[in-house]
Amino acid sequence: MTAMPLKNVLITGCSSGIGLAIAVKLAKDEQKRFKVYATMRSLAKQDDLVAAAGRCMGKTMEIKQLDVCCEESIRNCVSGIPDRKIDILVSNAGMGLIGPIECQTIEQMKTVMDTNFFGLVRLLKEILPDMKKRKNGHIVIISSVMGIQGILFNDVYAASKFAVEGFCESLAIQALKFKLQLSLIEPGPVITEFERKVYEDGLKMDLSAADKETADMFTNVYLKNYKSIFQSLGQTAEDVAEHTMKIILAENPPFRHQTNTLYTPMTTLKYADPNGDLPIDTFYKMVFQHDKVFNASLNFIKLLRWRSNKSFDLGKPQS
Ligand code: NAD
Repeated sequence: MTAMPLKNVLITGCSSGIGLAIAVKLAKDEQKRFKVYATMRSLAKQDDLVAAAGRCMGKTMEIKQLDVCCEESIRNCVSGIPDRKIDILVSNAGMGLIGPIECQTIEQMKTVMDTNFFGLVRLLKEILPDMKKRKNGHIVIISSVMGIQGILFNDVYAASKFAVEGFCESLAIQALKFKLQLSLIEPGPVITEFERKVYEDGLKMDLSAADKETADMFTNVYLKNYKSIFQSLGQTAEDVAEHTMKIILAENPPFRHQTNTLYTPMTTLKYADPNGDLPIDTFYKMVFQHDKVFNASLNFIKLLRWRSNKSFDLGKPQS
């Protein structure tokens, strides 16, 4: 019996969080169906991945340098893969940005767009032509529920994920002609470096350019509830990796996949009202009028998760 050929998977942003978890999950597949090219911007940050991959290193996993903001680095990485053959691309690298836009520079905003949106575009400019030639390939993009719904003080981050979703929706039509598949993975809150860094940057933010009401809203409403939202609704990176693997293995993978059922009622509001007022009104009321009910609901969800042994502390890996 001849063994099934391994599928080459290239994943971006694997030094931490969701990228690391997906790389390890696929490399440790018991049926050994994948050869994982786990890429990261700086190879100096590979220790956590190497430790988590264990004996897979050098067998089903190889680590390579790739900066999604640098075309040359993408070209070098792809050219170093035998026959440049990538069966599955997981575009995961990304960054967040929160706060009032008055207090953010255009440069900061451009960096977010450059990483989250143009990072994907650069990858596809290099990888898509080969996939089209082979008429084979699956492009999996780690988007976000914020790719379909904006959230208070996440204006630019949501815009970058909306850009990703619009781009993919357009490309998916062409991709069908070449028998290629595109899947957007849309997690809600996930407890990773991302959430810690974004929160710490928020705490350090110079709010002097914002009026008092806006600054107060950011500090005393948004940041105050931030940790509690992640503790109640947050998933682990491993959970998102499990969802991603299911999508990769699906015979007919869906175009969109939300990973967090606790969050789906929020995104459903978007589809329920073509005028778009329903989700905006609901978020407004939740944050500014019914904040006590909102907080009580979050605490209730936290309690339910704790009772079902699914609780976790922020920052601590799940045992
Ligand atoms: P993370 O910060 O742990 O991982 C992001 C990774 O991207 C890091 O390893 C970082 O070094 C890398 N990266 C950043 N810029 C890069 C560049 N120019 N080139 C290559 N790599 C680069 O956070 P995460 O939560 O694992 O985020 C992964 C993806 O998931 C992101 O696209 C993020 O937008 C998305 N996401 C995260 C959450 C969340 O709450 N954490 C929710 C929904 C979607």
